[in-house]
Amino acid sequence: MQRRTKKAHYLGLLLHPSAIHSMIGRIMRREDLPYTSKLINLYIERGLLKTQPAISTIQGLLKTHFRCERCLNTQSEKFIHFHCAKCEQVCTYCRHCITMGRIASCTQLLTWAGPSPQHPKKHQFSWTSTLTELQQHASLELAASIQQKRQHLLHAVCGAGKTEILFQPIYNALQKGFRICVATPRTDVVLELAPRLQKVFPTTMIHVLYGGAPEQQSYAQLVIATTHQLYRFAKAFDVMIVDEADAFPYTFDESLQKAVYKAKKPDAPITFVTATPSSKLLKQRDGYSFLPRRYHNHPLPVPRFQSLWRYKRQFKKDKLPKQLRQWVEQRIEAKQPFLIFFPTIEMLEQALPLFSPNILGVHAEDPTRKEKILKLRNAEIQGLLTTTILERGITIANLQVAVVGAENPIFTASALIQIAGRVGRDEQYPTGDIIFFHHGISLEMDLAKQEIQRLNEVANE
Ligand SMILES: [Zn+2]
Ligand SMILES: [Zn+2]
Repeated sequence: MQRRTKKAHYLGLLLHPSAIHSMIGRIMRREDLPYTSKLINLYIERGLLKTQPAISTIQGLLKTHFRCERCLNTQSEKFIHFHCAKCEQVCTYCRHCITMGRIASCTQLLTWAGPSPQHPKKHQFSWTSTLTELQQHASLELAASIQQKRQHLLHAVCGAGKTEILFQPIYNALQKGFRICVATPRTDVVLELAPRLQKVFPTTMIHVLYGGAPEQQSYAQLVIATTHQLYRFAKAFDVMIVDEADAFPYTFDESLQKAVYKAKKPDAPITFVTATPSSKLLKQRDGYSFLPRRYHNHPLPVPRFQSLWRYKRQFKKDKLPKQLRQWVEQRIEAKQPFLIFFPTIEMLEQALPLFSPNILGVHAEDPTRKEKILKLRNAEIQGLLTTTILERGITIANLQVAVVGAENPIFTASALIQIAGRVGRDEQYPTGDIIFFHHGISLEMDLAKQEIQRLNEVANE
């Protein structure tokens, strides 16, 4: 009976409420919807679906400007003109968000404009550990900011336990029936966060969205997504949390930043979370929590510098530089898992054959990187060579870390701080080696070391 009333509420149309829920807050193409054109037209006629052209044109003085209404891209070089078979005219498509399916001038984007559902307010909160005093304080501050719809910056050193700080504020929001998004630029961080959040909120419907993720139907009150996936949403979320808010590519791609604002409701508060906030993030903060200390109270490991002269030439000659070889031998001897960061995929691939077979390599285009990280965690392999993709979000007990070519511009001070932050995270192994192999010390290396030492001093005050 109740179901009938619910259907009547949606104007007696043919779709089940759960099908409608999956459209709420989404930006969709007609072809993304599994319904007939007739049904979609009926929804449009009744004002339940709003349509807009996918590509807007703005007539400038000298030329026409374009804007993609899905990814908000306005860079003219990313719009491609072609003869379109569908509308039989010269049409323009957006190359910037092509991986989500092509949208062109003649594409209609649809958004739900009908009534919004009541979200469940009953959620199970299965978290039994306790927070440190610092974490507890930050958690309360953050909850207060969200309550007051204030922007908040959670600035917590690597290993401070920032995810645990989010649990209570997320739970508060779920209990109010809010829809929450935890977004991050990094797929690896999404994959690390998702099982942890599902464990803490076992009865809450959670969607985990990243490029290549399995299709997830229905409606999720908690969404964990890469910032790229937010292109698919509009005015969807009551609470937006951006984790690793200073990470590549978010800071460099303005359309990703716009996507965060587009995906949330206009008055929804944003929380930025990071260990290495940019000066821009520090400036625009409203609420602010600062955790200079790791949850286990041990100081951050301070990197040591070791010259590795002409390492590029040595790799090219199929030679493993002596100091690096010795460092790896020591790790193997002590049975310590390790990561070695390389500035480029090319150099990583040059170096990989010089290591023993139980050391593997991972990079952004590697489809098996999830499995390889798991192998390191399970001690099935001893070490991994990696690019900066593993600078964040990875926690392995007793991990030892080296950076090869630390002077390379790709290793900014914040990247180096994040990399150093992989060491000593576990309470049982709170120390470990972090070594920067270099061909000349860069300013960024110095800055990273100074900042780590400063944070250790602040934590002791
Ligand atoms: Zn067309
Ligand atoms: Zn686009």
